Amino acid sequence: MVTSAISALDLRRMLDFVGRKIIGQEAYLNSLDAAVGDGDHGITMRLGFQAIADALSELDPEVGLDVIFRKAGMSFMGATGGAIGVIFGKMLVSGAVPLHGVERFGTVEFKILLAEMELTVINTGKVKVGDKTILDAVHASNQAMSSPDAQDTDDLDSWIRDRKQEYFNI
Ligand SMILES: [Mg+2]
Repeated sequence: MVTSAISALDLRRMLDFVGRKIIGQEAYLNSLDAAVGDGDHGITMRLGFQAIADALSELDPEVGLDVIFRKAGMSFMGATGGAIGVIFGKMLVSGAVPLHGVERFGTVEFKILLAEMELTVINTGKVKVGDKTILDAVHASNQAMSSPDAQDTDDLDSWIRDRKQEYFNI
């Protein structure tokens, strides 16, 4: 029976899935960055997600959600430079706070997690919504989860269950 709750193993699968997708888009991300900056965003994200994959592969399979978030964020920060390394890394680390001692998280913790991440991006990046930074994406996710449409927990549960099946075949 597929459950909507996200376990430590699910989180590892998610980070692995997202990492592979992002690494696969390295050239595209570089080209987007080249339009306004130095064209290295794809490289940075590849280095960061490769570091996450390496770090998680060495982590005890029994560790909890908070340890995974902290380890992922710290290894991303350690492997990447620039503002995005610190901002994205700290955002992942901040996921550890609300999930300490939580074995599986559901929609309630998911909302807290997103709120925590948004605050971290605001405080670390000294940005506000609309500045065309990563904050806009985090804020949009946070808003979507807090919207009246998202108050039906059953709907959210089935949405998460469907995505788990679709992406991770679990
Ligand atoms: Mg750049």
